[in-house]
Amino acid sequence: MRYDYLVVGAGLYGAVFAHEAKKKGKNVLVIDRREHIAGNVYTEKTEGINVHKYGAHIFHTNNKRVWEYVNYFAEFNRFTNSPVANYKGELYSLPFNMYTFNKMWGVVTPEEAAAKIEEQRREIQGEPQNLEEQAISLVGRDIYEKLIKGYTEKQWGRECKDLPAFIIKRLPVRLTFDNNYFNALYQGIPVGGYTRMVANMLEGIEVRLGVDYLENKEEYDAMADKVIYTGAIDEYYGYKLGPLEYRSVRFENELIDKPSFQGNAAVNYTDAETPWTRIIEHKWFEFGKDEDGNDLPKTIISREYSSEWKVGDEPYYPVNDEKNGKLYQAYKELAEADDKVIFGGRLGEYKYYDMDAVIASALEFSDNELA
Ligand code: UDP
Repeated sequence: MRYDYLVVGAGLYGAVFAHEAKKKGKNVLVIDRREHIAGNVYTEKTEGINVHKYGAHIFHTNNKRVWEYVNYFAEFNRFTNSPVANYKGELYSLPFNMYTFNKMWGVVTPEEAAAKIEEQRREIQGEPQNLEEQAISLVGRDIYEKLIKGYTEKQWGRECKDLPAFIIKRLPVRLTFDNNYFNALYQGIPVGGYTRMVANMLEGIEVRLGVDYLENKEEYDAMADKVIYTGAIDEYYGYKLGPLEYRSVRFENELIDKPSFQGNAAVNYTDAETPWTRIIEHKWFEFGKDEDGNDLPKTIISREYSSEWKVGDEPYYPVNDEKNGKLYQAYKELAEADDKVIFGGRLGEYKYYDMDAVIASALEFSDNELA
């Protein structure tokens, strides 16, 4: 059988494109080298709990088209992400808001908080040049030292002075009592897990799992007119211009025979000494209940450890600094000269994409490609 499209990677980008292509009457084959669909949003049910096997994924977006799109494949619950920061046993609310400022400085009103931040941000003059300067200029040195520095340096394995400022701009700073981590109109977790949502996207589409495209590239290329590749772009080219840098993440999962471990989905350990960055307690993404509304008696936690990626590991986060940006541009030029293959998604485009942005990008590409 010959296909119009071969989609390499059954994650969000691949599943959305495959769905759209099928809708337009195209023959599509989706392959993935993992034994499961859904890429890094994969969830697996254990003890009635949907475990986010590749880390916490909380869907949030301002994009109405994307929100309506995902709601077509899954029902979303009303989960709102409100992580807690644990700094040597002191607990702080995230993102940075009046609860955080009150605990840090004892300030009570937004005016007092603003004055405190203003006093501390004065040490940064001019446009912030790196993450450290950006963080201090957003929230001041005290919060930087207790809630940002250790966490960020563990997560990225680099000093805050050597990281791009934009990473910290993901985090809102508010002079209100609002613990919602995201500034998004829409937010939630798909009931029944992300795997089911992606399975619905892929319904009626041929999917082959546990097969490696790059190992049999010629054979696969001969099967389709066009290839949509959602794996890492440097790996596709055999790292011939050198490897891009990524951060990888490792999880230690533990089933605990009690109803609650930490009382919240995410607790960030923001000191430098604790070896993990955060602990996820999966049941709280679904309010501690199974799909019939019964309380779950046990709990599953994942300690998340961040590490530098090396060939053979799963890449999670692109390191979007200047050096890697240049190298990515060079790979992108190779890609542009090749009209049989299109690169998409977090790894294909080497971009710190959230899920909604991946879906928006896949839909936009589908609109053009399938017009
Ligand atoms: N961050 C931090 N302290 C925290 C949480 C986040 O300093 O408690 C910083 C850190 O630099 C991190 C960035 O904010 O890399 C973005 O965090 P986010 O939670 O959005 O990252 P993700 O969930 O994608 O890992």
